[in-house]
Amino acid sequence: MKIIDGKKIAQDLRNDIAKKVGKLDRAPGLAVILVGDDPASAVYVRNKDNACKEVGFYSEKINKPADITQQQLLDEIERLNNDDKIDGILVQLPLPAHLDANLVIETISPEKDVDGFHSENIGKLMQNKAYLRPCTPKGVMTMLATTGIDLVGKNCVVVGASNIVGRPMAMELLNARATVTICNSRTTDLSGKLRQADVVVAAVGIAQMIQGDWIKPGAVVIDVGINRLDSGKLVGDVDFDAASVNAAWITPVPGGVGPMTIATLLENTLTAFENRK
Ligand code: NDP
Repeated sequence: MKIIDGKKIAQDLRNDIAKKVGKLDRAPGLAVILVGDDPASAVYVRNKDNACKEVGFYSEKINKPADITQQQLLDEIERLNNDDKIDGILVQLPLPAHLDANLVIETISPEKDVDGFHSENIGKLMQNKAYLRPCTPKGVMTMLATTGIDLVGKNCVVVGASNIVGRPMAMELLNARATVTICNSRTTDLSGKLRQADVVVAAVGIAQMIQGDWIKPGAVVIDVGINRLDSGKLVGDVDFDAASVNAAWITPVPGGVGPMTIATLLENTLTAFENRK
């Protein structure tokens, strides 16, 4: 069994981006909007801001109060859409309940939508023509590429069908010409489907729900889940120790997909910069 070291792959990607930024005539710019003071969201935003600084990007961290009106938030996005220093705009989700997240995402200019959630970018992903692709699934594809495994014709099972992970993940794998099964909470015989899988991507949000003996010998296991146990320990959606017995490759939690998501956000911001030029 080999570990897919997300931390190292993410660091290599960031070093590569920093080198490219050093040769540009202006720094690519990312604006991250945080509404309210949810502590977990604040940590994510701070990490994104620090990652930007590390690679030499221009970064704007914009904090808005939890009681901001829908219109005020849309106006702020419009301001950033028209700001030439800004190549990427990200609104940290989830938003307070009185705000319509979908409307917020649709207001971001598709060419600055570095999260890749705008319907135009998702539509292009469906057509295999996307240039801004959702960060977590795109980061998983970068990780899979480092294994050297050819995905063409492989049986891939994606567990989870959210708009931000499961669905775009399935589309990425299909675009790589794999055969894809997408599972959700109503899927029957999940273990049977996983036993056929050459590649498993778990994105459910239930601690260690995927058992070791569900993994086919030689499979690649990608664990997107991040769950905190009562003990405080972070674990994925896969029972890592048990799955490691059969897996040929597996991602750890933490240190797997998580670091790739932020590195891919930087990659998308550079792509948006290059595209806008
Ligand atoms: P959501 O809660 O939005 O979606 C969960 C999906 O899992 C749904 O499609 C749901 O099905 C499905 N599901 C729930 N229970 C089961 C089950 N028993 N069997 C099969 N499928 C099931 O979660 P997200 O996609 O946003 O996130 C998933 C996990 O990934 C979370 O742990 C999250 O923290 C983590 N995450 C990690 C990131 C990273 O950078 N590493 C980035 C984003 C998320 P249904 O559609 O029927 O409800």
